[in-house]
Amino acid sequence: MPQILDGRKTAEHSLASTAARIAALHARGITPGLAVVLLGDHPSSQAYVRSKDKTCRELGMHSRKYELPRDTPQEELLSLIRELNADPAIHGILVQSPPPPQIDEQLVVRAIDPSKDVDGFHPLNVAALAMDDPAAIVPCTPLGCLELLRAHDIETRGAHVVVVGRSLIVGKPMAMLLLRKGNDATVTIAHSRTRDLTAITRAADIIIAAIGRPNFLGADHVSEGAVVVDVGINRVEDTSSPRGYRLVGDVDFDAVAPKCRAITPVPGGVGPMTIAMLMRNTVEACERMTAEK
Ligand code: NAP
Repeated sequence: MPQILDGRKTAEHSLASTAARIAALHARGITPGLAVVLLGDHPSSQAYVRSKDKTCRELGMHSRKYELPRDTPQEELLSLIRELNADPAIHGILVQSPPPPQIDEQLVVRAIDPSKDVDGFHPLNVAALAMDDPAAIVPCTPLGCLELLRAHDIETRGAHVVVVGRSLIVGKPMAMLLLRKGNDATVTIAHSRTRDLTAITRAADIIIAAIGRPNFLGADHVSEGAVVVDVGINRVEDTSSPRGYRLVGDVDFDAVAPKCRAITPVPGGVGPMTIAMLMRNTVEACERMTAEK
């Protein structure tokens, strides 16, 4: 059987070291603060926001949740962001995606103070990551994938990593992060227009799947001994579940796992790591903002 890359356990370890950093800030009379803004009542977005809020509170961080109506005008959202940018109690600002259609997501991302952009989506942070600047705030999900690999001693140096997906949230920053000096992977990025995806993923030592299609990658896509990180979180109908659905990844776990050296489960893989990295990014932003000169 493959090694299971346990995101829950790894996230717990990471949260414990973040808690120690928070204690050190508390000792200086500082509480790191995260503001999460949600527009509308999309059930999975609400669940993500609740879980971020809960983790913040458990860690002794200041958490502020803004649940705005779905039809909130863009100017109102921008004005809230300006307020949060100026608020010294807030060190991290996150607007939960996907936003409703009247909102220009890129404009919102650019409105967030880059030093409080704990999602790492602001162009200055994107550029800093591309330029190997250690001060870059790196997007939480790619950071979580890398931490998960590191925690399980999976070497990226010299490995051929195929990232399937080129989104700004996962695929592209994942590829950048893997390319960084020290991580030193050889990276291929695939997307919906990629020809012969199977041949490409079969050549991978490590596959990172961020596609958004349930059980999309099957046994044929994976070579014996590969490591598979499944970022996908997809709801599929399941009448046997009390909720009427269950969560599955972008990888057909049952078909793929027997061929793998290591694989993430869904749920319990990348998801908990993303939240742990959000906490870490927020604490790091707070440390930088309050550093004694
Ligand atoms: P996205 O913005 O929809 O991007 C999906 C990517 O997959 C696109 O680049 C798309 O290619 C590519 N793709 C679609 N169909 C493909 C195909 N047939 N062959 C190859 N590539 C294909 O999604 P995302 O935001 O990156 O999220 C991806 C998944 O990760 C979703 O299930 C999401 O829920 C999940 N997610 C999980 C976490 C977590 O914490 N675990 C965080 C974020 C996202 P094109 O660019 O050509 O369209």
